[in-house]
Amino acid sequence: MAAPITTISDSKERQVLNLIAAHSHIRGLGVTPDTLTPKPTADGLVGQQQARKAASVILQMVKEGKIAGRAVLISGPPSTGKTAIAIGMSKGLGEDVPFTMLASSEIFSLEMSKTEALEQAFRKSIGVRIREESEVIEGEVVEIQIDRSVTGNNKSGKLTLKTTDMETLYDMGTRMIDSMTKEKVMAGDIISIDKASGRITKLGRSYTRSRDYDAMGPDTKFVQCPDGELQVRRETVHTVSLHEIDVINSRTQGFLALFSGDTGEIRSEVREQINTKVAEWKEEGKAEIVPGVLFIDEVHMLDIECFSFINRALEDELAPIVIMASNRGSTTIRGTNYRSPHGLPLDFLDRVVIISTHPYQADEIREILAIRAQEEEIDVSPDALALLTKIGQETGLRYAGNLITTSHLLAQKRRAKEVETSDVQRSFQLFYDPSRSVKFVAEFEKRFIGEDGGVTLGGAN
Ligand code: ATP
Repeated sequence: MAAPITTISDSKERQVLNLIAAHSHIRGLGVTPDTLTPKPTADGLVGQQQARKAASVILQMVKEGKIAGRAVLISGPPSTGKTAIAIGMSKGLGEDVPFTMLASSEIFSLEMSKTEALEQAFRKSIGVRIREESEVIEGEVVEIQIDRSVTGNNKSGKLTLKTTDMETLYDMGTRMIDSMTKEKVMAGDIISIDKASGRITKLGRSYTRSRDYDAMGPDTKFVQCPDGELQVRRETVHTVSLHEIDVINSRTQGFLALFSGDTGEIRSEVREQINTKVAEWKEEGKAEIVPGVLFIDEVHMLDIECFSFINRALEDELAPIVIMASNRGSTTIRGTNYRSPHGLPLDFLDRVVIISTHPYQADEIREILAIRAQEEEIDVSPDALALLTKIGQETGLRYAGNLITTSHLLAQKRRAKEVETSDVQRSFQLFYDPSRSVKFVAEFEKRFIGEDGGVTLGGAN
């Protein structure tokens, strides 16, 4: 059986894994489903209620398929939860709705042009839900043969099921588990095997039609054949991204590139062909387009060329919703000499919906830090938490969050169960926050290697 291709839910899992450290406590936007009212603290999110409400309205529209091709900017000072809110949105999207995260600096690579990298990110964010009707083998398991010689144990040995109706041996690799109930398949069971996916469904040991209907699940349909026989057909639904279809059909890359991630540039003719094909499938009712979300962090790092690309790409029929985040105020638009709010060209800014995040109050910082400590399963004494909160107020939430981990390591060293104030103090001395680092660089500037690569020995100290 061919190796399964990566589907959107797989790749989404991987993307979220990367962020497990920083945002693993975020489970959603924390709003009541009917009125979209944000609770003060819910789903791991604290405060920032106005931004969460706005984000949940956008999310609702994405879920209803009402918007695509729109751009949203989440703007606010560093560590005010812009990424956290975007992650919260991603948790609320359907399983197969693509969510792609892109740090703007990622597009500056030698392997492909900036616009190609953006184009790929856009196409990763459009899902194509493809419905396939697959035939199912049905019959009684007469015998299970496990080739123990392959590995010496029956867990990963080669399994052969012999079914009555098909009068064939069906080689199932290592699968012998009911895909829904996870029960082991035994000789004497009546089963169905989906040839395409290799999924096994137990229909029971005594064969009664009514039970079968329940056991088969919603994707299954029974087809009455001309000879009166009832045949089981399963509709499998795969959602893949437009980018995955591009890569699979790209002669220079091939589907294996999906595993390495080394897809290189994709020719525009391939993309045009795919767009035509997908439009045909849509027309024939075989496929549905699922516009997803592309999240671009540090958007001020993009340059004018990228902004014109995004402006154009948003007009496309197949466009996702683009959510951007920036912590910059007025800054230069890269690639120009002009300054603009958030470093975004004014005509682009004009089409963007803006959600802003605000600095936190002390009690909100304390609550977020307490959630982080709980997420990392670290006990922090009330005094230590108060100190971390104070540090958070002065240096930012991210630094204070990192101190929880480092203070815990120090507490473990002294075999303590709980992080105490002394651990936080020690951590604070060992690891600099950005403003102390800036001060340090300013003080010892001459001792560092400068832009010209030179170092002045015996400089200021
Ligand atoms: P930057 O502008 O520096 O990229 P940001 O606004 O994207 O910052 P985040 O990365 O979202 O900030 O927040 C920093 C840390 O604080 C993360 O671990 C995040 O999950 C957590 N955090 C921020 N705001 C909240 C919140 N309202 N509720 C819970 N956790 C939060």
